[in-house]
Amino acid sequence: MSVLKEIANAKVNLSLRVIDVQSNGFHDLEMLNICVGLSDHIELKPSDENSVHISGSIDEEMLALVPTDETNIAHRATALLSELRHDDAKWEIHIDKNIPVGAGLGGGSADAAAVLRLLDGNTKSNIELALQLGADVPYCVFEKPAIVRGVGEIIEAVDLGDTLNLVIVNPGIALSTKDVFAAFDRHFVKKTSQNSSINALCESLNLKNYKRVSELLVNDLEFTACSLKPELNRIKSDLVESGAFAAAMSGSGSSFFGLFSSFEAAEKGASTLVGQYPLVHACRSII
Ligand code: ATP
Repeated sequence: MSVLKEIANAKVNLSLRVIDVQSNGFHDLEMLNICVGLSDHIELKPSDENSVHISGSIDEEMLALVPTDETNIAHRATALLSELRHDDAKWEIHIDKNIPVGAGLGGGSADAAAVLRLLDGNTKSNIELALQLGADVPYCVFEKPAIVRGVGEIIEAVDLGDTLNLVIVNPGIALSTKDVFAAFDRHFVKKTSQNSSINALCESLNLKNYKRVSELLVNDLEFTACSLKPELNRIKSDLVESGAFAAAMSGSGSSFFGLFSSFEAAEKGASTLVGQYPLVHACRSII
């Protein structure tokens, strides 16, 4: 069998609301997700031994956070499929990593999803299998704009109109999703009535009503992440100053994104931020 290749695109949460914290500690979420053109490249080669090799454009310190043993989520994906199929397939896995780590961009989940797409064509309908690898994996397999609910298992495709133009900024700080949720939980109070604005956000994006979009972008974890790492506080205003009509944090941080009216505007905005942050990347959403 020749080398199998797949692109693993980063996920951005345009909106993230925490609806409830379940008694088992799981979070009931409501998110508006897209995938964007900031990507790892995955290669799988059949081999006599399992191995994971990492290279990439992110800085050395961040690259070192990616495990090369059996805990790498891409390896876990191959192992899970072998277990289900009762086969003894072994893989040499190469990950060319460009998605920052611990960045709220689902980099690990995207890698696992790419493996599932390569090795299991049925995965698109197999949410339970993907969920065993991580809450973001089912969505990363799906890849199209969607409202995602529950712990990541309820995925509803949405039409946001044209491709969105973004600038992703990562400050080079890895934030653990577990730590951010733990800090968030200490102050969580369930709202008695939660009027969801997610449909209004989808409609405003579709209508290019930029002012309304900027009012409706919300990430419930942003305040907590910024309290844990005060360096994050200035990123949003920097993005707005660079020309974004709206900006917010993605996932549990540490990355932020800005939305721009055109790809040219995004590139121009990015050029004003390059040098201020380790990663500044203009990209488009995948539709
Ligand atoms: P999310 O937005 O889904 O919470 P994240 O973007 O914040 O995820 P990841 O980049 O996926 O976080 O990495 C979280 C941790 O997962 C890393 O610190 C690393 O130890 C581990 N990990 C395992 N496999 C991978 C992989 N292939 N790529 C990146 N991290 C991996």
